[in-house]
Amino acid sequence: MSPAVHDLDDLAARARDGSPRAVAQLISLVEDGGSAGGSERARALAAALAPHVGHAVVVGLTGPPGVGKSTTTSALVGGLRADGRRVGVLAVDPSSPFTGGALLGDRVRMGEHATDPGVFIRSMATRGHLGGLTAAAPQALRVLDAAGCDVVLVETVGVGQSEVEVVALADTTVVLLAPGMGDGVQAAKAGVLEIADVFCVNKADREGADATVRELQNAMAMTRRESGPGWRAPVVRTMASRGEGIDELLAAIDAHRAWMVEHGRGDEGRRRRARAEIEAIALADLRAQLRAVSGSVALDALAGEVAGGGLDPFAAADRLREAAVDEG
Ligand code: GDP
Repeated sequence: MSPAVHDLDDLAARARDGSPRAVAQLISLVEDGGSAGGSERARALAAALAPHVGHAVVVGLTGPPGVGKSTTTSALVGGLRADGRRVGVLAVDPSSPFTGGALLGDRVRMGEHATDPGVFIRSMATRGHLGGLTAAAPQALRVLDAAGCDVVLVETVGVGQSEVEVVALADTTVVLLAPGMGDGVQAAKAGVLEIADVFCVNKADREGADATVRELQNAMAMTRRESGPGWRAPVVRTMASRGEGIDELLAAIDAHRAWMVEHGRGDEGRRRRARAEIEAIALADLRAQLRAVSGSVALDALAGEVAGGGLDPFAAADRLREAAVDEG
């Protein structure tokens, strides 16, 4: 059962004390943001957490399926823990509906870290969330931030547009490639060169790793990166399944973070997340308002007029919006 709004402060306090159960419950509430009463609770939760966030660094990992994202994430958790850092892992699967059973899956996914009190692992489904992934993911990140995570690793399970959305939420983005997948060329086409802060050529034990690294370096030489001059995305080779190269990968991630802070850009990721979230919430609210009026006969009547040629769809949309404003 979902807790009442007044229980949220207590839940948030327990999450801050490091209770994995409280963290899991709060993220479930975030997932549930589109349900009846869900947005009320999401609002109250955001208010309860607001004074306790602002510390965690978000690292996004993206790349084609099978490249080794899960393996690398797990290895990075090991490296960060060895460093004494508290870690959150958010595996986002935008294609799935809400999953009450996510916790069990989480324990299986990262067996060796599942019982470490310094690690919070959570998978998250966002389909059906009010405002979608761009609203849900920052909310979940806020929960993990408030729970005292130094670093949150965000890994996408699905493929496609959602990958880019998730990546836009990170402070540092790691793009993973592997030899023999033709990824170097694909990467250039898909525009990942622009979003990568660090490249990771995983499966370096496989033939073709050198060629993949070379290809990347050539492609980068021809691209002007968004973060401007000064930061050039390094290419790190890893064998995640053997834990090799993970320290170097971590060092590259930390170096990017340090560079951003040094150049007065430390809060860029946080601002980007906030912007995406505000916009997603406002759009979802507007959509709900429109739906409220269009649930009545208004939309049907307008549709009839447009279909009959008596009204153009733009004028009809204006009327629908006016009706929503009048009612709101
Ligand atoms: P994901 O789909 O990107 O999350 O990829 P996974 O982490 O599930 O890895 C896919 C497969 O690649 C698994 O069977 C891993 O054991 C394997 N794998 C991961 N890292 C390496 C590596 O460095 N070398 C080799 N040879 N295999 C690896």
